[in-house]
Amino acid sequence: MSQPKTESPPWVHALAPYVPGKPIEDLERELGITDIIKLASNENPHGPSPKAIEAMAAAARGVSIYPDPGAFKLKAALAEKLGVPVGRVLVSNGSNELITLLVRAFATPEQNVVASQYGFVAYKVVSGAAGVEFREVPALGLDADIDGIIAACDADTRIVFLANPNNPTGQYTARADVERLLAEVPEHVLVVLDEAYVEYVTADACPDGLTLLGQRDNLVLLRTFSKAYALAGCRVGYAVAPEYVVERVNRIREPFNVNLLGQAGARAAVADEGHLARCVSANTEVRAALYAGLDALGVEYWPSETNFVLMRSPSDAAAVNEALLRRGIIVRPMGAYGLGDCLRVTVGTAAQNDRFLAALRGVMEEGA
Ligand SMILES: *Cc1c(COP(=O)(O)O)cnc(C)c1O
Repeated sequence: MSQPKTESPPWVHALAPYVPGKPIEDLERELGITDIIKLASNENPHGPSPKAIEAMAAAARGVSIYPDPGAFKLKAALAEKLGVPVGRVLVSNGSNELITLLVRAFATPEQNVVASQYGFVAYKVVSGAAGVEFREVPALGLDADIDGIIAACDADTRIVFLANPNNPTGQYTARADVERLLAEVPEHVLVVLDEAYVEYVTADACPDGLTLLGQRDNLVLLRTFSKAYALAGCRVGYAVAPEYVVERVNRIREPFNVNLLGQAGARAAVADEGHLARCVSANTEVRAALYAGLDALGVEYWPSETNFVLMRSPSDAAAVNEALLRRGIIVRPMGAYGLGDCLRVTVGTAAQNDRFLAALRGVMEEGA
């Protein structure tokens, strides 16, 4: 690395770069093997709606023109589907961008953001990048400690983030606890419920944030097209937020933050409810098969309301991860989350799931 001539702020020095799921191309290059499956980033293995693919192919002819900076048609489609006023919808370059925009729009380095231990890692990374104090509230087991989160808020708290269901644990905070959070966090604090996996939820006790909008003015719901809608490569996320939050975020966002192909693909995906429903029911089915397979191997795991499962590695997690990579299977080690003895595996297709379970069995039999 070259010597810096220009110094960054101390909080940039303190950041460790984010380690994403290993790309298939990297493993192909490293091992010289093909037929690799990636179960590391909670992508939807069934792919996007064919109508979304068609819409993007048609839109591709128009990419010499900047996209609609207000994403009028996409926001209208979302508002109609969600039953909220269009003035409460924000769209973004993946919901990760909205996490960044919310922190930048509302918090200074003198203020703080609160979230749970084992919560989604972006809250910490984004706060760190903005030099904002990040208060990580110790979890109860793997669950968010709602009373601890409420107690951690003070006059300088600007945002509480809660992913529900949560990544990487797959577990959820039940309705009564979310309602207590909304009622008891001080009014000046924006509560952000990150519902990246909401489409996959089957448990009745896990609330749909849309049913909570009446319970608190200062509430933002974050959602994404990256998971159940299978458009991760397009980078489209959205939020339902109070109008003043929409207005503040619009002041600082880049004018063309959602690209033209993403807008077209997401609009078509919203309209194809059948495809979404088929992906969700396939996920529920294969997730049950994954549980059964892990049970048969005697591997401990945590039941999940998402399209991934957190499991306790049968032996040293780094070694098991490496042994799975040699067999062409990419899962996600959890060291960055402080869960160094765990692996997170995305629910794939039935065939991918069979291959993962066979590989895991092989690793356990041969020793990692
Ligand atoms: C995947 C994920 C996101 C971000 O996804 P984008 O691709 O940026 O939309 C946000 N929150 C959680 C909890 C996630 O798992």
